[in-house]
Amino acid sequence: MSLHIQDLHATLEDGTEILKGVTLTIPKGEVHAIMGPNGSGKSTLSKVIAGHEGYVVTSGSVTQGGEEILGKSVDERSRDGIFLAFQYPSEVPGVSNANFIRAALQARLPKGEEIDAVAYYKSLYSKMDLLEMDRKFTARAVNEGFSGGEKKRNEILQLMMLEPEYVILDETDSGLDIDALKIVAKGVNAMRSSERGFLLITHYQRLLDYIKPDHVHVMAEGRIVRSGGPELALELEKDGYEFLKESVLA
Ligand code: ADP
Ligand code: MG
Repeated sequence: MSLHIQDLHATLEDGTEILKGVTLTIPKGEVHAIMGPNGSGKSTLSKVIAGHEGYVVTSGSVTQGGEEILGKSVDERSRDGIFLAFQYPSEVPGVSNANFIRAALQARLPKGEEIDAVAYYKSLYSKMDLLEMDRKFTARAVNEGFSGGEKKRNEILQLMMLEPEYVILDETDSGLDIDALKIVAKGVNAMRSSERGFLLITHYQRLLDYIKPDHVHVMAEGRIVRSGGPELALELEKDGYEFLKESVLA
């Protein structure tokens, strides 16, 4: 079982091509990291996989366990186990964190089944404890007035509660101090499983010190231009993306 992206091309609504043929397979049980310069299309790739508006897929496919997902809505993809933690998480005024996650879980249950409130809060609190989140965050509106680090931790809380099949984390490390980064990594590592695949998008190697990837890919100008093992991230940290200018984009 895997999430398979095949020769994916996508444009903005004005026709500007951003993804220029991305091919990538994320089997369950593996952690893949995508690195690359700003503007190379990493966030666009994550949003196209999750089904967000503003992008037009012009060719290619994305399959989950062999099934095409590109025709599905954002909601359907989410219910079917695709989870995207945003680079810039949105605020949801007027909806408490606890109710937001509960509604998302409820939407995954068969008609007529209800979430058990006691079990729900027990599970929520245990995850918040692991993420070192104060209980007051259950009652606060989703991400409203949260600091950058609190938003990122909150994304990981959602991930831990929803237990998705495939997880995409878009620069979840950006703006985090080292203590917050370690906590986020602890949450992600706790979710690693043979039944779950991860795509970590990051600009920096630092996150990968704490979440060890199985494979590292470099994206540039809308394509994966290099793939390797964890050592590739270290090499990029040392030498930067200069090699792209000479080789790949020449
Ligand atoms: P990355 O995440 O690798 O930094 P993005 O996917 O965010 O790259 O962006 C890739 C390119 O597409 C950039 O040049 C960016 O400005 C452009 N782009 C992406 N989304 C939009 C949008 N909604 N409107 C205009 N330009 C966009
Ligand atoms: Mg981005």
